[in-house]
Amino acid sequence: MAEIKLSGVSKRWGAFIGVNKFDLTIADREFLVLLGPSGCGKTTTMRMIAGLEDPTDGEILIDGQVVNDLEPKDRDVAMVFQSYALYPNLNVYENIRFPLRVRGVDASTHNEKVMRASAMVELDEFLHRKPAELSGGQRQRVALARAIVREPNVFLMDEPLSNLDAKLRVSTRAQIKNLSHELAATTIYVTHDQIEAMTLADRVVVMEKGIVQQVGSPTDIYDRPANTFVASFIGNPAMNLIDGEIAGGAFTAKHTNIPGLKAKDGPITLGFRAEDATVTAEGGHINAPIYTLELLGDATMVSVRIGSALVSARADKTFRAEIGDMVSITIPQDHCHLFDAETGARLE
Ligand code: ATP
Repeated sequence: MAEIKLSGVSKRWGAFIGVNKFDLTIADREFLVLLGPSGCGKTTTMRMIAGLEDPTDGEILIDGQVVNDLEPKDRDVAMVFQSYALYPNLNVYENIRFPLRVRGVDASTHNEKVMRASAMVELDEFLHRKPAELSGGQRQRVALARAIVREPNVFLMDEPLSNLDAKLRVSTRAQIKNLSHELAATTIYVTHDQIEAMTLADRVVVMEKGIVQQVGSPTDIYDRPANTFVASFIGNPAMNLIDGEIAGGAFTAKHTNIPGLKAKDGPITLGFRAEDATVTAEGGHINAPIYTLELLGDATMVSVRIGSALVSARADKTFRAEIGDMVSITIPQDHCHLFDAETGARLE
């Protein structure tokens, strides 16, 4: 069992606020991803849970027990960092075994535990190699095995895939998801990569400038972003955002007229996803010259400029036109997202 509760947790350094009033309960066995741009407070939040950083305010509870004053080693959490920090002089076997020795675990159980952990991350063949004789992905797996061997109730992972190439990332990502399930552990995973977040998480916490912007399942966050920050951070490409005006239920901006919206008159920010739009030669809601065309294989991405915004729509893969040709983009009303022009908060 490991339920983690953060209650009003903040971290300040002088006047600078790294994490601001973080409130969240992470369920036993949940896979929670902290997502946000560099400097938003993800690592600091994680370090406070691990006990490597003291909160300035608030309480951290594990299974109902306040752990603020517990040393990291007494918290039953195992952390995997982006830099693997392996011992260069120890072979893979001894690296994986290290936490057991440090924690005084009964020596007669070491071999079995190390073999089990190394098998889980498919390192059995490499046990006698030194870290310098391994690839980046293999070293990363040693770091994972070293966390697994402790059989913790909580895994904290800070960008564990950031040093891997694209292909290894995908396979190691799948392995992490599977491991967390198999070990029945509660996992908190930090990343700035929204695809990693969406594929791994039961729930995602989107952070910016130390403040939680939204907590929800990947689908919630994709379908109903709470504000323009979340909207512009999630999705590939990110949601299109156009500043304009509502008058009599119609949204207008340069090149743009979308009737039939339920919103009161005044300035507004309208959002839509490239994949929800359709592209034709004429008759749609946005009529503008093509700024650029990208052939993606399964589709053609068409972009136009609306003021300072670059707006993309997904066309059929057979769609062909030249830069500068007029194009027409249609957005179904129920795929229009409306945000307050000033605060960026979602309306409705
Ligand atoms: P990244 O993805 O770049 O690792 P992050 O979201 O993990 O970013 P944190 O490492 O949590 O960000 O840092 C949050 C903010 O707190 C940053 O602006 C950082 O500069 C600041 N910060 C972190 N540690 C300290 C410290 N010891 N003293 C002062 N400011 C700090």
